[in-house]
Amino acid sequence: MTTYDSDSSGAEDNFTETNVLLGYATKDETDDNVSHLGGHPEWLDSKTAPTGALARCKTCNSYLSLLLQLNGDMPGTFPGHERRLYVWSCRKKTCRRKDGSIRAFRAIRVSKEAMARAQTAKAVPVAASESKKQQMNLGESLFGAKPLTGGGANPFSASSGSSVPPNPFASSHTSNPFAATSLLAAKPPQPPTLQLSNLTDSFADKLRISSPPHAIRQPARPHEPWPSESSFPDPYPIYNLDADYETLDAEAPMPPQNVRMQLDVDGEFSNSAKDMKGEYESEIDKTFQKFADRLSQNPEQVLRYEFKGQPLLYSKLDAVGKALGDGRSGNAGMTRCGNCGAERVFEVQLTPHAIMELEAEEEGLEGMEWGTVIVGVCRLDCQPGDVGAGEVGYLEEWAGVQWEQTRK
Ligand SMILES: [Zn+2]
Ligand SMILES: [Zn+2]
Repeated sequence: MTTYDSDSSGAEDNFTETNVLLGYATKDETDDNVSHLGGHPEWLDSKTAPTGALARCKTCNSYLSLLLQLNGDMPGTFPGHERRLYVWSCRKKTCRRKDGSIRAFRAIRVSKEAMARAQTAKAVPVAASESKKQQMNLGESLFGAKPLTGGGANPFSASSGSSVPPNPFASSHTSNPFAATSLLAAKPPQPPTLQLSNLTDSFADKLRISSPPHAIRQPARPHEPWPSESSFPDPYPIYNLDADYETLDAEAPMPPQNVRMQLDVDGEFSNSAKDMKGEYESEIDKTFQKFADRLSQNPEQVLRYEFKGQPLLYSKLDAVGKALGDGRSGNAGMTRCGNCGAERVFEVQLTPHAIMELEAEEEGLEGMEWGTVIVGVCRLDCQPGDVGAGEVGYLEEWAGVQWEQTRK
């Protein structure tokens, strides 16, 4: 993505574009009628909600508030997969800075065609078939990003038009996830009308009858109904999301990638404790400064998106920063997928400006205190073993929270 629209380039050669899609909150309609900040969630279908266990704070057990619902369809990488990400936060003051008070999960529905294809091509992992070309095409499908040369063309219609490179997965045309998304989006949001007994029956039926032979065998998990909307705290205000690739001022040097830390954070300091503290703080400041500088170039971004990309770290010295931050281990610091065991990869992170938007109507400074929320997802986009082709399933994903630094 290094070419420029002739209208917008010209003398503007001072900008470079990155592979990171930025999301911007807006009250206006956008091309993406699935993704939003705040509000209540909508599911991939009206009959399959997640288990209510995913609605709860892991610290205090009360119901969470939705921060983000994101359309995660990637027809190039995962043809026939419909996917959405949901990120949640507990609003209890006592849960701030505690593990499990911010959670993320992924909704997944794999078409029958894609499932059959995966079974016949089992020897070829999905990831191995990705090409650069397909990756470049990803952004057009994600939460309404406008193709650079398309002048705001609707990405939904573009998926069947000529502006998109030919899809090498010819069979995916028979199960175009965009068509399904558009149909769903055309309906007004419907509160989930979940009937536990029916759902349990259908899960059980599937396990008996239609579970594909390669599926990961799991015992049917306990499934508690998703709570009614009124049992949740008042939702955050809802915003639509606009997307655009990140542009950076070329004159401001890009932060070097894969910089090795100059400090051994595990403690092999030879200096006095006082010097150690000084170095520690300057390392915090360096990483934070990089974070702040990068965001300041597009200050209204509420999220950063790049499947398999690198998150922008708020700090390298907290648990998340240590796990992800040395540039040597990639995203290995994320736990593996709890369902299939594959590695997780970075997909999206929320920025502090999201808090500004979500709490715009709140008084005082009593709100959320994270610096960034980093979401890592299964790199294979797997689905639960007890969910069949064409059915919706949900899997918890990795949410790494870097809390706001307290400065005294
Ligand atoms: Zn809580
Ligand atoms: Zn997985």
